[in-house]
Amino acid sequence: MITIFGSIAQEESINIGNSIAWGKRSQAKRGIIKVGNANYGYRIGENYELVIEEEESKVVRRIYADIQAGKNYTQIITGLTRDRIPSPKGKEVWGLSTVKQILQNVVYKGDYLYQKYITVDTLEEKTAPNEGELPQYYIEGHHEPIIDPDEWEKVQTIIQQRSEAFEQRNHEKYSKDQRKNSSFTERLLCGECGSGVGYERSFERRGSRGTREINRWVCRLAEKYYAVNGCSSQRFHQDYLEQHFINLLKEIEQDEAFQQEVESVIAQTVLSAQELMQEEEAQRRMEHLNQELYEAVDEELHKDGQDHQRVDALSEKIVKLHQQLKDFSDRKKLAEHYRNEFKEL
Ligand SMILES: [Zn+2]
Repeated sequence: MITIFGSIAQEESINIGNSIAWGKRSQAKRGIIKVGNANYGYRIGENYELVIEEEESKVVRRIYADIQAGKNYTQIITGLTRDRIPSPKGKEVWGLSTVKQILQNVVYKGDYLYQKYITVDTLEEKTAPNEGELPQYYIEGHHEPIIDPDEWEKVQTIIQQRSEAFEQRNHEKYSKDQRKNSSFTERLLCGECGSGVGYERSFERRGSRGTREINRWVCRLAEKYYAVNGCSSQRFHQDYLEQHFINLLKEIEQDEAFQQEVESVIAQTVLSAQELMQEEEAQRRMEHLNQELYEAVDEELHKDGQDHQRVDALSEKIVKLHQQLKDFSDRKKLAEHYRNEFKEL
C-alpha cells in the first residue's frame, strides 16, 4: 500500500510541479519574471523585482575589481576571509565555485537567464542545468546592474584567457607524463593471459589539497573478467612497475653472461686488424682514383669526349670503394653505440 501511495503522490507532485513551472514559463514569455531566489547582492523587491543589496553589492564589486587587478581565486578568497566577509551561505571561508559563479553570472550585469536550471526530481527538489530540454528566456536589462556590462565582458575575457593558460600548462604537464609512460606502452604483456597491458590514469580528490594523480597498468582482458575469455589479473601501480623495471636493469647489469654476450657482439662489430688495414688501403686507393678521375675528366674535355669509357670505369670503381669505406665506418659507429648503451646501463 505504501508503495502505491508513494507512486501516486509522486505522480501528483510532478503534475503540480509542471503546472507551476508552466505558469512561470508563460509569464517569462510575456516578459514578467517573478524571481524566486535572489542572487547574492540582490533582494526580492515588492513587485518581485531584483533590488540591489548595498553591503553585498560592495563585495561583488570588490571581487570583480580583484580579478581585474590580477588576483587569482585563492588570493581573492584569502582577502575575503581576512576581512571577515562571510560567504553568501554565511560561512567563514568562501568556496571557489561561489566566487566563480559571481564572476560569471549575467545577473550582475543586469541581465536575466530564466530557466537556467530544471527540476529533475520534484520530490527531492534536485536541480540540473537546463541543456535545452525546456525553453530558456534571456532578458537584457532586466534589473539594475551591480557591474557595468562593459566591465563584466572584460572580466569574462580575463577568465577565458586564464583558463586557456591553465589548460596549456596542464597539457604540457600531461605530455611530459606521456613521454614517461611511453617507454612501457605496447611493450608489456600480461603474465596470466599474454594479452597487452594498457595504461590508465585517474585522479583522487584530496579535499583542499587538490587532486592526486594515479597511474596504473592493467591487462586489457582483465577489465572483462566476466567474459568467457576474461583474465583475472590485477591492476598494478606505476611505482610498482618502475621499481621492478629498475630491479630488472640491475639484474641485467650484474649478469655476467649478459656482459659476455655484449662484449662478443661488440667484438664482432669492431673492425679486425686486417679490416683496419683494408680500410687504410681503401682510403689510399680512393685518393688515387679521385686524382685519376680528375685527370681523365680534364683530358676528356680537351679530347672532345672520346675517352668517356675511362671516366665511367673510374667512377664505378670510386662508387664501390666509397661503399666499402662507408660499411667500415658504419660498423665503427655501431660498435661505439653499443659501448655507450652498455655504459649507460
Ligand atoms: Zn591478462
